[in-house]
Amino acid sequence: MSWQQINPKQILLQKIADNGGWVNAHTHIDRSYIINDANYSKTADPLHLKWDHPDDFKAKVSVEDIVNHMSQVIENQLAQGVQALGSFIDCDSVVKDKNLRAADIVKTKYKDQIDLKFIHQPIKGLMDKTELKWFLEAASFVDIIGGLPERDSLLKIGVDRKADHLDILFDTAKKHKKPLHVHVDQLNDPNQRDTELLIQKTREHDYAGKVAAIHCISLAAQDKKYRESIYKQLVEQDIIVIACPSAWIDSRRNEISAPSHNSLTPVEEMLPAGVKVALGTDDIADIYKPFSDGDMWTELRFLLEGLHLYDIDALAKIATIHGKSALFIK
Ligand SMILES: [Zn+2]
Repeated sequence: MSWQQINPKQILLQKIADNGGWVNAHTHIDRSYIINDANYSKTADPLHLKWDHPDDFKAKVSVEDIVNHMSQVIENQLAQGVQALGSFIDCDSVVKDKNLRAADIVKTKYKDQIDLKFIHQPIKGLMDKTELKWFLEAASFVDIIGGLPERDSLLKIGVDRKADHLDILFDTAKKHKKPLHVHVDQLNDPNQRDTELLIQKTREHDYAGKVAAIHCISLAAQDKKYRESIYKQLVEQDIIVIACPSAWIDSRRNEISAPSHNSLTPVEEMLPAGVKVALGTDDIADIYKPFSDGDMWTELRFLLEGLHLYDIDALAKIATIHGKSALFIK
C-alpha cells in the first residue's frame, strides 16, 4: 500500500494565493484599535448599547488619527496577503464627514497595494432627520450603500421600522446606482427573520444581483423547510452572503428553543443550494471584539471547523473570488 501525506492547510493557503490572496469582505476599520483603559469595561455590554460606545472617540478624533487607525488595519491585512477589503465606516452626526475624508486619504495612500471599498454605516439609524441627512449626503462618497435595519428595530427605538430603514437603503442605492450591503439576522434568534425581509425588499425594488447580506445567522435557528426556502430565494435574487465566523461565536446563551445548531452562518447548507458566500473578519480590535486581530486564517478555520466544511476548492473561493463578487470588484 502506498500513500502520500498531504497538508490540507498548505493546499488551501496555496489556492488562496493562486487566486490573488484573501478578500476581507466585511469589517469596520474606522473604529479598530480604539480600546483603552477607560472603554475596555464596556466591551461586555450587549450589542444595542455598544452601538453608541465609540461616540467619545468619534467626536474627538481628527481625520489624521482616523487615517492612522485605518492604516494600522490595512498594514495588518497586507502582511497576510489580503488583496481587497470592504469596510463599513460610520457616517453620522457625531463623526460627521471625518471618516469619509480619512477613507479618501487611505484609498490614495494604498491604491497600488490593496483594493479598498468603503460602505457607510447608519449606526444612528435612519429615522432621525439629522442622521438621515448625514447618511444621504455620504451616499455620494462611498462605494457601496450600507445598512443596519436592526438599529431601527423594537430593540433600540421601541418600534419596528426595519422595513422603512430598508426602503431608504434601496432608494438611496438606486438613486446613486450603487450596490448595497446590509447587516441582517445577527442575533442567532429564530424570532428574527431579516434575511427574508431583505429578500422581499430586493424583489420589491427590483435590485437582484446588487445586494450582499452580512451574517444571516438567525437563519440557522429556523426549521429546515424555512431555511431551504430562503436559500432558494437568495439564489433567485442573486444575493451574496458574507459570513464573519468569529464575530457571532459569542452569541449569548438563552432559553429559546431552536433546531440544534451553532451560531455560524449556515454556509455548509448554502453552498449546495447554490448561494454564493464570502468571508469577513467583521470588527477588529474594537469595543465589539477587543481580542480580534483581523487574522483571515482564524476566520476561515472557525468556518470550516464550525460547519464541518472540508471542501478545499469551495473554501478557497469563499476566501477570494466570492469576496471580490461581494465587493463588486470585476
Ligand atoms: Zn459589521
